[in-house]
Amino acid sequence: MIDASINEMLTERKQKFLIPANIVANVLESNNLYHAFLVLTKNQYAKIIVLDNDGKYKGLLSLAMVTDQMLDTESINVSKLTHILVGDVMQTDAITVEDPYDVENDLRLLTNNPFLPVVADNGDFTGIVTRRELLKAINRMVHNIDDQYEITKK
Ligand code: AMP
Repeated sequence: MIDASINEMLTERKQKFLIPANIVANVLESNNLYHAFLVLTKNQYAKIIVLDNDGKYKGLLSLAMVTDQMLDTESINVSKLTHILVGDVMQTDAITVEDPYDVENDLRLLTNNPFLPVVADNGDFTGIVTRRELLKAINRMVHNIDDQYEITKK
């Protein structure tokens, strides 16, 4: 378990942990892969969130999932993308979290994932927690801890 003082320092600016849904790039499960390819290429994220028309979280889509569908035996066929929907190829088993401010859980899960989708229990997509924001909080903590605490070796 994380020490309470460390946890308190890490969550001093906890509002920064959650990147809210309204500024997270997404595609709809009903979009075709041609559209998704443009979105992924334009915003330069390797993986983005997939939603349904009601703003519910559905999964993740990576550029590799799209380009994989473009491959024919000996060539690349971009036009195939207009006939395949995001919902047909998206990843549906990605780990999600409900509470973005559970630092202990975030630390464990962000070790292997660059970001975590935050999903409410009714399926609404709330936003994402990123490794970058957590690392910034850790960076601040390790540089400031001796301003607030006397650290003595046991
Ligand atoms: P970062 O830690 O900021 O590099 O973000 C890690 C990953 O989170 C990125 O590679 C994206 O896949 C995702 N990500 C971060 N910010 C956004 C955003 N505003 N919209 C969509 N995806 C994002």
